[in-house]
Amino acid sequence: MRGAGELSPPMPDPLSLNVAYLRASETLAIGAEAKRRRAAGQEVWDLAVGEPDFDTPAPAAQAGIQAIERGLTRYPPNAGIPELRAAIAGNLSRLSGGRPVDPDRIIVSSGSKQTIFNAAFCLWGPKDKVLIPAPAWVSYPQIVHLARAEPVLVPGDIEWGLKVGVSDLEANYDRLVRGLILCSPCNPTGAVYTLAELRAIAEWAVKRDVWVIADEIYRRIAFGGGPAPSFLDLPDELLGRVVVVSGASKAYAMTGWRIGAAWAPPHLVSAMAALQSHTTTGANHPAQWAAATAYTDERVEQEVARMVAAFRRRRDRLVERFRAEAPGVEFVEPHGAFYFFFRVDGVPGMGEGSAAFCQRLIQETGVALVPGAAFGDDRWVRLSYATDERTLDGALDRLLAHLGAARAARVS
Ligand code: PMP
Ligand code: GLU
Repeated sequence: MRGAGELSPPMPDPLSLNVAYLRASETLAIGAEAKRRRAAGQEVWDLAVGEPDFDTPAPAAQAGIQAIERGLTRYPPNAGIPELRAAIAGNLSRLSGGRPVDPDRIIVSSGSKQTIFNAAFCLWGPKDKVLIPAPAWVSYPQIVHLARAEPVLVPGDIEWGLKVGVSDLEANYDRLVRGLILCSPCNPTGAVYTLAELRAIAEWAVKRDVWVIADEIYRRIAFGGGPAPSFLDLPDELLGRVVVVSGASKAYAMTGWRIGAAWAPPHLVSAMAALQSHTTTGANHPAQWAAATAYTDERVEQEVARMVAAFRRRRDRLVERFRAEAPGVEFVEPHGAFYFFFRVDGVPGMGEGSAAFCQRLIQETGVALVPGAAFGDDRWVRLSYATDERTLDGALDRLLAHLGAARAARVS
């Protein structure tokens, strides 16, 4: 008990309920920690953050510079310059075998993170539940909370690349469920949903009257030959309540330009536009010109093919080395994006969870990875191979030795 006259500790200034669940992005925080260690002169092998190591293709960068030189530096049209909306529509159409895509159904935002936020904020609110297959990218639950709705993590099936099926969704369904956020190719696992799987989920969503945000930001980075299957490959009657998210960051190595987009029903496009008319006034104007070139220029297309081939080579090397040098360590077979998700709860001495594993790893070897706990599953760890081959090989030498040492300690 406090004695009379004793002051209670100062209460932190209470902030709004809007931010009751807010936590800074763990993926960005770990990337920043790796940079801090490097700046302090420590050796760091950074396989944490999911950002292509390639430079923005020159024709796109030049288009951004030219836009500035041409004075295209004033407020942009709020929903995106018509040239970019048409370029994205044309690109989505080509990727889906020529299906018609109306540019008026495209809205451009400041990165697909804002696109997802805008869609979630317009679609869901208090008392709504939103299903999120887990492991899930860190920002989805946070964005759903910011909309004051409730995220419900639906664990994926280990036997099935940690993907979910209709029975998993159905098991978590009740009348409050109004939404689903599905990511394919998936961050953090690299798993890719087949078209048949997407169709089954789309049919379930229609039956249950559930809106789907399909995050297809990694669609171009797929290793099965051609882009990953998309909701846009499905017939119109399944797409009445579907938002397809895309963006320039990953496929075009344009993370810093901050260009994302949604394809959505017209009334949702209008609501998302109205929302951003009060928050950002649309995406950076010169960056929109750069992106318009990225989506249409044949030379950029060749660069994309080159980058995807490099990601594929790294994926092959990584999988080969894990199989040979870490037998028994379980991982999700990666078919897209640039992530590799492996299991640490079975590794001896690693019983303390993914965060402790990653902490020990960076301290002892300098290798930075992201704990699965950040994605809603503490048994796993995410490795990003969006990094040059020398760094990847050096990091793998250290990581595999670390895993090997743990195994050897158990045997002895
Ligand atoms: N979705 C997923 C699954 C991601 O990994 C990222 C990466 N940051 C984003 C969306 C957002 O990307 P951006 O805002 O750069 O378009
Ligand atoms: N999406 C990337 C990642 O998961 C970039 C960081 C972020 O925006 O969360 O690492």
